[in-house]
Amino acid sequence: MQRSAVVWDPALLGYDLGGEHPFNPVRLQLTVRLASALGVLDGVPLLTPHPAPDDQLLRVHADEYLDAVKQAPMATWDVGHGLGTADNPVFSDMHDASALVVGSTLLAAAEIAEGRTRRAVNIAGGLHHAMRDHASGFCVYNDCAVAISWLLEQGFERIAYIDTDVHHGDGVQAAFYSDPRVLTVSLHQHPFTLWPGTGYSAETGAGAGEGKAVNIPLPPGTRDAGWLRAFHAVVPSVLEQFRPQLLVTQCGVDSHDEDPLADLSLSVDGHRAIYATLRELAERYAEGRWLAVGGGGYQLIRVVPRSWTHLIAIALDRDVKPETAVPAEWTDMVRKAAPRAELPQSMTDGVDAAYRPWGDGDDDAVDIAIRDARRAVFPFYGLDPDDPRD
Ligand SMILES: [Zn+2]
Repeated sequence: MQRSAVVWDPALLGYDLGGEHPFNPVRLQLTVRLASALGVLDGVPLLTPHPAPDDQLLRVHADEYLDAVKQAPMATWDVGHGLGTADNPVFSDMHDASALVVGSTLLAAAEIAEGRTRRAVNIAGGLHHAMRDHASGFCVYNDCAVAISWLLEQGFERIAYIDTDVHHGDGVQAAFYSDPRVLTVSLHQHPFTLWPGTGYSAETGAGAGEGKAVNIPLPPGTRDAGWLRAFHAVVPSVLEQFRPQLLVTQCGVDSHDEDPLADLSLSVDGHRAIYATLRELAERYAEGRWLAVGGGGYQLIRVVPRSWTHLIAIALDRDVKPETAVPAEWTDMVRKAAPRAELPQSMTDGVDAAYRPWGDGDDDAVDIAIRDARRAVFPFYGLDPDDPRD
């Protein structure tokens, strides 16, 4: 069996919200170029996706919403469903381009489900805000939720979805809020201070899914050490009890200090540490099965390409050392297109991503978030929220 699969096709650049919209597909192109220039993709066949057919989209989306997306580019009327707004502008081939994103995550999921690989990466995926009947937060169709639904049908009984985007993973949480087979975990900037305004620690799931939603809202300004401290204080313990058969991770990188849309203060080094942790958790708790998708990230040149190159490299067990120089081949290409941009020189921000484990008696704002998250969900798993050994 091949160790890891990477899905990529330049056609994915067709998911383009146009103009000055922050969700610019150039970030994907710059990532693939950087990963290639560093040799990360040498000898790795890139899998070509196909658009997801309607019956797959209908797993998590409403029929009338699909119709609205298909009609939107031709419509002279307001089609509703969150379309045609500043966040979710209508663009040509909107349905096909959005269905291709879903198809790319489904392809990655199929590689794992059908036993061809243990890990699969699709940086074009991660459209975690899309809701059943409306577009939201730059997301038309929810590739994460469609893929998870499909995986459940293939016989997976326990899937853990971990969302590291700076925004709450609201669309995926909503899709599985009362489904005990899907654990959704989201670490994000606190909803008081950032759209979409959900993701409080008290959101823990409903009905049979009670206890299967975990939210860790973090204060603005949280750095690598605080983020990792919070993650490690909550997530591994819950995974150990939930016993997932597969991890699906949304790896948005808008948590970076330089991201223009949000106010967490992580570094590329922190992102690299997060991905190494996700790999380790997949090995420890999910028989190595790890489906990683992209997500947000709006510092298009300095952040996204480096962080997601680290993601791809880690998924391929070809970890790129932080001090590695950014190849001239890449900087020359970028400088031609963006002559005034400040370019990164190496694969590090020079930040030490070490963290201190929770339970040392500190009580800063991150520790309060940790305590709240543990108290909200640990009792569902027979764990003691106030005991650092749990
Ligand atoms: Zn985001």
